[in-house]
Amino acid sequence: MALRPATVVPPDGRGFSLSVRFGGRKAARVPRNEGDHLVRTESMDQQTILGIDIGGSKCAVALGRTDGKILARQAIPTEGDRRSPQDVLERLAAIARDLLVSTKGAGKPTGVGVSCGGPLDTKTGVIHTPPNLPEWKAVPVRAFFEKALNLPVRVENDANATALAEWKFGAGKGTRNFVFLTMGTGIGGGLILDGRLYRGTNDLAGEIGHQTILMNGPLCGCGKRGCLEALASGPAIARLARESMLYGRHKRVLALAGGKPGDITAAHVVEAANDGDPFARQILDEAGTYMGLGIANVIQMLNPERIALGTIAVHAGDHILDPIRAAVAEYAWKRSADVCQILPAALGDQAQDLAAIALWAVE
Ligand SMILES: [Zn+2]
Repeated sequence: MALRPATVVPPDGRGFSLSVRFGGRKAARVPRNEGDHLVRTESMDQQTILGIDIGGSKCAVALGRTDGKILARQAIPTEGDRRSPQDVLERLAAIARDLLVSTKGAGKPTGVGVSCGGPLDTKTGVIHTPPNLPEWKAVPVRAFFEKALNLPVRVENDANATALAEWKFGAGKGTRNFVFLTMGTGIGGGLILDGRLYRGTNDLAGEIGHQTILMNGPLCGCGKRGCLEALASGPAIARLARESMLYGRHKRVLALAGGKPGDITAAHVVEAANDGDPFARQILDEAGTYMGLGIANVIQMLNPERIALGTIAVHAGDHILDPIRAAVAEYAWKRSADVCQILPAALGDQAQDLAAIALWAVE
């Protein structure tokens, strides 16, 4: 049965859930070592972690526990086009200090987890010009927060961090070999292999969206042609819908986009498909087949036991999962495909917060 959410979020899935205003308010500062007298929790599952999610449109600071419970959070728009990286980081540090004051009873955090779009270097904690934050050139995020918050800091790219969160708290729970794939503005991936996050030689493992699926295919944002991301991501689904309009069966999708072909997004296609529109279902069928082909390659290579898919799969449900599973059955070995479940991600709106916190929820 298809999942039918009450509202379809934009394909990047990053709506604002809570905002805080900064009307010239001076941030409260935690006196040095103030939290030291508080009783430290014993169990690994009850440690307190400060999670910082840095996204292209919004950032959030959350205080949570290593068992996945969020105790408090605040989000702000990133405004990366008019604020310097330093400015954004200072605002986040101020929010973090406020949160720590307001949740003093929760105990001093064990560490800070920072989840951010890559590329970034997990060893140095330096962010290198992510596509969603083009002004962030060699920003030493870990060094900044270590100094600003006086706590140990781990930095991870958001796809890997979300993979850890889904593995620890969501759709990948209980598995040893798990693959998480984002399916929104882009297609990113995170690999849990033999019970550990696999990063590769220089943090570039899991770039599943940039495997070549179609020789001389559409141009990808990465500069190559025919990448999976250029065939099955949110923007690719919107492009498929616009291009297929020539066949004249597009009325429902076009109406959802206010009659403007240029405004069609994957969210419109998903909404129309959920309403039973055959044109929209055909578009998702095509994108899903490409996605399934890419996933079949992953299954051939890694033999995972579960693969969870983000945003579009969550909102379109079986309208995209059915063609994905059909392509996997066709292109992957049966013995590999038979042991691999393909299902939607489970953490929903909490994924970003839990991603940052999950960095300290694993060994
Ligand atoms: Zn690419």
